[in-house]
Order: sequence, then C-alpha cells, then structure tokens
Amino acid sequence: MSTDPRTIVIVGAGQAGGWAARTLRSEGFGGRVVLIGDEAHPPYERPPLSKAVLAGEAAPESAHLLDAATLATLSVEWLASARVARLDRAARQIELADGSTIAYDKLILCTGGRARMLDVPGADLPGVHTLRTIDDAQRLGSALRPGARVAVVGGGWIGLEVAATARKRGAEVTVIEAMRRLCERSIPAALSEHLLALHAARGTEVLLDTGVAGISAIASGGLRVALANGREIDCDVAVVGIGLVPNDELARAAGLACEGGVLVDAQCRTSDPDIFAAGDVAVARNGWAGRSMRLESWQNAQEQGIAAAKSALGHAVHYDPLPWFWSDQHDTNLQIYGVPQPSHQVVVRGDPASGSFVFFYLDGQCVTAALGGNAARDLRFARRLIEQRKPVRRQDLADPAVSLARL
Ligand SMILES: Cc1cc2nc3c(=O)[nH]c(=O)nc-3n(C[C@H](O)[C@H](O)[C@H](O)COP(=O)(O)OP(=O)(O)OC[C@H]3O[C@@H](n4cnc5c(N)ncnc54)[C@H](O)[C@@H]3O)c2cc1C
Repeated sequence: MSTDPRTIVIVGAGQAGGWAARTLRSEGFGGRVVLIGDEAHPPYERPPLSKAVLAGEAAPESAHLLDAATLATLSVEWLASARVARLDRAARQIELADGSTIAYDKLILCTGGRARMLDVPGADLPGVHTLRTIDDAQRLGSALRPGARVAVVGGGWIGLEVAATARKRGAEVTVIEAMRRLCERSIPAALSEHLLALHAARGTEVLLDTGVAGISAIASGGLRVALANGREIDCDVAVVGIGLVPNDELARAAGLACEGGVLVDAQCRTSDPDIFAAGDVAVARNGWAGRSMRLESWQNAQEQGIAAAKSALGHAVHYDPLPWFWSDQHDTNLQIYGVPQPSHQVVVRGDPASGSFVFFYLDGQCVTAALGGNAARDLRFARRLIEQRKPVRRQDLADPAVSLARL
C-alpha cells in the first residue's frame, strides 16, 4: 500500500458498503479505509435470505460478499457490531455508540434500510418476524417446520418469496395483502393475476384487500391474527413484509438533504461535497424513470456502491442506471428492467398462463420497460432495446416467432 494519508470511512457494511470498500482498493486508493457495520457479519448479499438460505438449501456464509480474511488482505479496517451514533460534519468525524470517534476526509453512507414494522397491537410479540438480516433468516428458517401455519402479512416481493419458500418447507401459508392485488405498486394487473394463480396453485391462501387489525398470543400457543374484516387466522408464525424504512437518521440529524432517504446526485454526492451515499438509503434522480427514487435492488447496491467509491476518489462518475430487479417464486424467475409506467402502452409476448412471457411497456414506438417470467434471454434483448431507445413495431414484440435479437 502507498502512504496516502487520507481516510475514507464507510458507514454500513452491507452490499453497497462492501462494494465501496473493495472498489477503493481496486482503484488504487492507498489511504485508510474504515468499514463500520452494526451487524456481526461481514458484508453480504440479501437476496438468498428469502430464497436458498431461508429454504435451508444454502449456508448463510454463502451469501458473504467479502470475508474477514479478504477484508484484512485489502487492509480494510472492518469494525463489526459497531454502530455509528452521530455524524459531526463540522469536525469531519463520526462518533460510535461507545463514544469513540473516527475522523474522515471522505465519508460514504451505505446504511441501507430496515423492515417496516406493522403498526397494530401485538406486532412485537414473539413469533412475529421480519426479514432483513442473516440473523432474521436463521430465526425464521428454524420456525418454518413442515405443517407449521404461517401468516405472511404483505403480498409484495419479500412476502411472496417467503410464502413460496415456506411452502417448499412444507408449511401451511396464508398471505394477507391490504391492496387489491399483489405487488400493486410495481407490476401490471395481469402479472398480479399470474402471481396470484401461481401461489394459489401451490396451496397458498391469498387474501387481497384485507387489513390486519391486531395480533395476539393464544393461551395454548401460537398467534391469532385479527383481520380488519373480522376474520381471525390462527398461526404458529407471522411474517411481516410490508416494505422498508431507509436508515437516513444519521444524515438527517447532521443536516444533509433527505427526502425519504439521503438525496444524492449522479456523482452519488450528498448535499455535503465530502459525503456520498449509495444503496437502499440513497435517493437519486433516475433518468429512465423520470423522477427521484430509491432503488431497492441488488444491482443498485453493487453499482452505486462502486460509483460512490470512485466519486469519493475524485473520478468522473455519472450514475443513472437502467433499474433491474429480479424475484424467484416457486418455479418462476421474474425480472423487471426499467420502471413500468402505468400510462405507457403494454404489449404482451407469450402467454402468462404458460409461465414464460414478457410485458413490454412502450412510449410511442420505444420500449421503456420490460418485465417477464422465465424469459431471461428475451429480457436481455429487451434491455438492449430500452437502452438503445430503438423504435420497434408492436406486432414484432408480440410475436414470439420474431427474434428479439433481430430487432
Ligand atoms: C430478504 C431480501 C431479499 C431480497 N431479494 C432481492 C432480489 O431477489 N433481487 C434484488 O434485486 N434485490 C433483492 N433484495 C434487495 C437487496 O438485497 C438490497 O437492495 C441490498 O441489500 C441493499 O444493500 P445496501 O448495502 O444498500 O443495504 P444493506 O444491505 O441493508 O446494508 C446496510 C448495512 O448498514 C448497517 N447500518 C445501518 N445503520 C448503521 C449505523 N448507524 N452504523 C453502522 N451500521 C449501520 C445495517 O445494519 C446493514 O448491515 C432483497 C432484500 C432482502 C432483505
């Protein structure tokens, strides 16, 4: 290592933080890198937590992005189980929960988010789970025994993946969704229908348009979920998957501009030029979506973590990714490129009932977003159509006999 005197501190040792640390070194930074995380684990990827790790098919360690030995080889000072309690911008230092301080020249905030809690009586009872960390996945996994009755509150991506994995483990599952359809905010009605059929066919009961009024412990053991419509569901395990709250408190208390997350520009820079942010906690304008938003995805955690590190080193960065997200539920791999806009026209390729299909969103003759099931190859070409903003004919998109590669 060179003797670069500068110190770059990364707060949050998750996926974005791990990539930021790795990138500082791969870009040749020779100064001090301090990576601070309040979990006991080294940086890891979360998608397996609702899939293979929760199913008991993969060890939690398989999700690690960097292990302790690699961090040591990279000369990254990794502080585990250490929470940053305060950010003092005037003194350019962070303060840990134990009162110790670390000075920085550049700071990268990668604090992610936490699971949103259900705001009803009994939501904090033992047996009510959320799923964000490896520790959460291990606790929940051990409760998903064959025959266990599982109530999943929230029919979004995490709730549906948990439902699918719980069925795989032989549990009886009920999904309770407050909206009128599954994943209502992110997908068209036809795909919600497809997901509903997929889960119902695998024996999951899905209740739509159904609120939860409270949860109570049953004297004989287990939990009772009281629904807003008066029905009661007895279960052994309840899992709440109702979204994410960004961990932007440090930034807000320090006076950084925040709007439902830490505001950053295309250089991943916050309103303080020496502080950067990346991953689930960051809000940036996305040119493909035409608005500012947080991107809660594996792709963004990695790519924005890399971009923030480069930017902190003074390299030219313009981060405006075409959003990409995937979800695995039962035997279906769903992928979304771009941000589907309800006002755009939809062209369907393939038959959702067959399990393999793509929905294209078009603005005029240009594809702006595509989402599909078990259609990875078509979606890779769809991505190129979106990125190249190439005009296409609707009938070609809709005809599976016309190769997208040719378009
Ligand atoms: C169960 C699950 C399944 C998912 N599946 C998919 C999927 O299939 N496809 C997909 O694209 N995306 C998926 N995602 C989303 C993806 O994993 C996240 O977008 C990604 O993990 C975000 O990374 P991050 O580094 O921004 O945040 P995180 O990974 O949450 O890391 C932030 C870290 O910072 C720590 N921290 C926070 N505050 C402090 C503090 N003050 N001091 C110290 N440390 C702090 C947190 O404890 C955490 O360890 C899934 C997420 C979950 C939870």
